[in-house]
Amino acid sequence: MSPASRATTHRRWPSTAFLEELAAILFNRYPDRDAVALRRTIGEFHGVGLENVFAGNGSNEVLQALCLAYGGAGRSVAVFEPTYALHSHIARITGTAVVTGERHADFTLDLDEVARVLRDASPAITFLCSPNNPTGMVEPAESVAAVMAGAPGLVVVDEAYGQFAPRSAIDEVADDRSLVVVRTFSKTWSMAAARLGYCVAPAWAVRELEKVTLPYHLDSVKQLGGRLALQYRAEMEARVAALVEERGRLAAALAELAVDVWPSGANFILFRPRTRDGADVWQQLLDRSVLVRDFSTWPRLEGCLRVTVGTPHENDVFLSALREVLA
Ligand SMILES: *Cc1c(COP(=O)(O)O)cnc(C)c1O
Repeated sequence: MSPASRATTHRRWPSTAFLEELAAILFNRYPDRDAVALRRTIGEFHGVGLENVFAGNGSNEVLQALCLAYGGAGRSVAVFEPTYALHSHIARITGTAVVTGERHADFTLDLDEVARVLRDASPAITFLCSPNNPTGMVEPAESVAAVMAGAPGLVVVDEAYGQFAPRSAIDEVADDRSLVVVRTFSKTWSMAAARLGYCVAPAWAVRELEKVTLPYHLDSVKQLGGRLALQYRAEMEARVAALVEERGRLAAALAELAVDVWPSGANFILFRPRTRDGADVWQQLLDRSVLVRDFSTWPRLEGCLRVTVGTPHENDVFLSALREVLA
């Protein structure tokens, strides 16, 4: 973003309001244990009440609370690979067994495999990720509905990149459904340093998550920052719109090259050089000062690389470097 556009269309952060309220925090007092103002503001943002919002220190802590509350010894979670590695990692840390289902070769969800895993393992939690990290693919409504229909326990949809995608499951959360949608301030809100994430969930699930959380886990500065950040919705949406436009341009350009490309609803694109070794292409991009994420040795992602959508200039630099490497 150029300094000029920031000055004209973007409010400054940290805002004066943030600094003023920061100065008013009583640091000798514990924070609001229930984070009422923060949860109410997040709830208003999504059109639900605070009883449907649980917040944590990053969405990873929300995922951990879900595993602590619903997983544990003798229980399992289901994941469908390839997907976000932290789902199974966090589950194991909480003593929860992990059952793994395979996606189709094109990384879409295999509904027969889903039915088999849910029937055989009866998982306490079934994790989905939409858009899926690292493939970028958005889970269609029919897939989420099919998983909801077959899952014996909670269905957790991780929407860390939700605002980049054309569809979300967040409006489907209701007190009579076992659906939880997890969001974060780390990505589209550009606030990774704040460590703040949350889920929109049935009120009964929020009450269970509160039971496994340490007292006063959300400090006053975080509660304040998260609450005020939500006033910057227009700025967030402008950033997202710019990245989505660039994503389209990048995807179209990649489609012209000798690479397989997966459709992305996130701020990154997964691709696989068809004629060249992935790790080799990664190194040659690096030699041209372009750093992409190397997934080439990951199971199921052999040869794949993942590029993060950047500024128009950064994307141009990436594309010309890749054209050169593949030539
Ligand atoms: C980045 C990411 C998270 C973690 O976000 P934090 O809120 O920073 O903990 C969770 N899920 C997915 C899929 C992510 O990509």
